[in-house]
Amino acid sequence: MCFEELDIDLLIVGGGSAGTMAAIRAKEINPDCNVVIVEKAHIKRSGSITMGMDALNVMILPEKQTPREYAAVARDTCQGIADFGPSYTLAERSFDLLKKLENWGVFFPKDTCGDYQMLRIHMRGKFGVAMDEPDLKVMLWKRVGESGVVTYHRTTAVALLVEDEIVKGAVCLDLRTGKLRVVHAKTVILANGGAGRFGLPSSGYLFGTYDYPGNAGDAYSLAFQAGAKLTGMEYTASNTLIKDSNLPLLYITLTRGARLVNGFGEVLGEGAAHLKAEERIAELQRAGPLFIRMDHLPEEKIQEIEHVLFTTERPMQRRFWQQRKINFRTDPLELALTEIQLCGGHGISGMVVNRKAETTLDGLYAAGDAAAVPMQHLTGAFVFGQVAAESALGYMENKVFHKCRNNRLVKKTQADLDAFRDNSLAQVSPHDFEYKVRRTINEYVASPKNHYRLNRAMELMQGFHQELASKLIVNSTHDLGRAIEIRSIIECAYLSAAASNARQESRWGDRHKRTDFPDCDDVNWLKHIDVCRDKAFPSLKISFRAVE
Ligand SMILES: Cc1cc2nc3c(=O)[nH]c(=O)nc-3n(C[C@H](O)[C@H](O)[C@H](O)COP(=O)(O)OP(=O)(O)OC[C@H]3O[C@@H](n4cnc5c(N)ncnc54)[C@H](O)[C@@H]3O)c2cc1C
Repeated sequence: MCFEELDIDLLIVGGGSAGTMAAIRAKEINPDCNVVIVEKAHIKRSGSITMGMDALNVMILPEKQTPREYAAVARDTCQGIADFGPSYTLAERSFDLLKKLENWGVFFPKDTCGDYQMLRIHMRGKFGVAMDEPDLKVMLWKRVGESGVVTYHRTTAVALLVEDEIVKGAVCLDLRTGKLRVVHAKTVILANGGAGRFGLPSSGYLFGTYDYPGNAGDAYSLAFQAGAKLTGMEYTASNTLIKDSNLPLLYITLTRGARLVNGFGEVLGEGAAHLKAEERIAELQRAGPLFIRMDHLPEEKIQEIEHVLFTTERPMQRRFWQQRKINFRTDPLELALTEIQLCGGHGISGMVVNRKAETTLDGLYAAGDAAAVPMQHLTGAFVFGQVAAESALGYMENKVFHKCRNNRLVKKTQADLDAFRDNSLAQVSPHDFEYKVRRTINEYVASPKNHYRLNRAMELMQGFHQELASKLIVNSTHDLGRAIEIRSIIECAYLSAAASNARQESRWGDRHKRTDFPDCDDVNWLKHIDVCRDKAFPSLKISFRAVE
């Protein structure tokens, strides 16, 4: 067995929003701390931000709003399935985050009175703030480099090193050379996103997802295999986005006065977008196409919207509309319901964490979409990236650490990867295998759900899991990376179906609609459903936890 070994203090898996922020914070607290990020892609452009973002979707302005008010709104948005503590911490630390970003040069536009431009994107109150920073991800990448953090790009974490129920590092695969890198760390932060590449978009394009397609549910799979608890996996989120391009539009346009109309031209909503309404919009969407109209808006508003969409969000949007000859001043913009995903940022799925970002395993912390802090968005990724770094460094203080001596796990990981490579009977390309798995997710894991469909999903996912090593054609290290991702997608689908089967009620509109239990049942189901590994996959334990 040939692999490289590293001994470090803090390992951060994933160099997106939460991972880069965690690394920067760790170095602020202790510049001598040996911090390593392993990132599947390259941190300059990887993750949900990619370029920039137009808003921090959670923000509390001191003296105007309170964290308690926000935490109550977050709980109502989640129909009661949200712990108070993490939402409170998120809100409490949001303004310090804004000030920190402003100090770094991030631009937050102000209105004519000199106040931050607050947006209505929650059920009550204005708890979002406009931001205008097309280079946000590049800024984070530069700061990570300047702070002395070591980054291994094009390197994917394949398994966590766990001994005596303590997490002690990770086994990683270099996606360029195919070599294993075993990273021994005193503590680990999982910040490698949600399961964005999960359901199949209606375009059929595997990578044409709303969320960053590199987030294939690896975080949930790594945590599950290591024995950490996951929760909210039954919340299969899907969003109403721009038809065919799968890009966001509602928050940016509706908060600036645009109208949501149906195919008959009837106005269904105006001037506000909020998460709760998204569930309703998703239902209306099924009855026929919906559109955004802006022909009633003044020219300067339209230009403001175009500026946000074509610079900060995604510049390719300009070409997309131009090629279709659509002008915001005269034409309606068609929307469509997109693929389902599991996510802690726009949803409630992920690792069980408390307000210190501690998971249920010793030595393991989680931040961003990987963690179940409901609807935490970018604000949450940044705030809990910092919280996780603070907690991880606190954990290291005055502690004697023993390196993981048991190399059974490394051997097993190597054997699993070799099995993918040595497959003379393989017949199915990664593209075809993944397409089939994700088409099955659309058919059996998404709403409308029922006992038959969910059981069938679990059976089919077990079958895919067994067949993957023998049937998948793996001709290169790139294919090997795809094989690991497909395995994560299958495991997440299995966990989602199992949790959905356990929740015998309907909740969150289209996100968990059971035809055999059509009503929301607060008496019996106002609680979390946690899933945890039992022995090896597919054996799992389901438990119920009261909402904090
Ligand atoms: C299109 C879009 C628009 C959004 N707009 C807003 C907005 O305006 N305001 C707002 O507040 N929020 C917004 N959000 C949500 C917000 O961007 C996310 O919640 C947040 O960025 C998530 O950060 P993260 O660090 O958890 O994940 P990411 O930033 O996605 O980072 C995860 C990283 O992990 C890496 N990775 C994955 N698996 C592995 C592995 N096995 N090993 C190593 N690395 C791995 C990935 O390559 C990626 O770089 C938006 C999201 C999207 C998708």
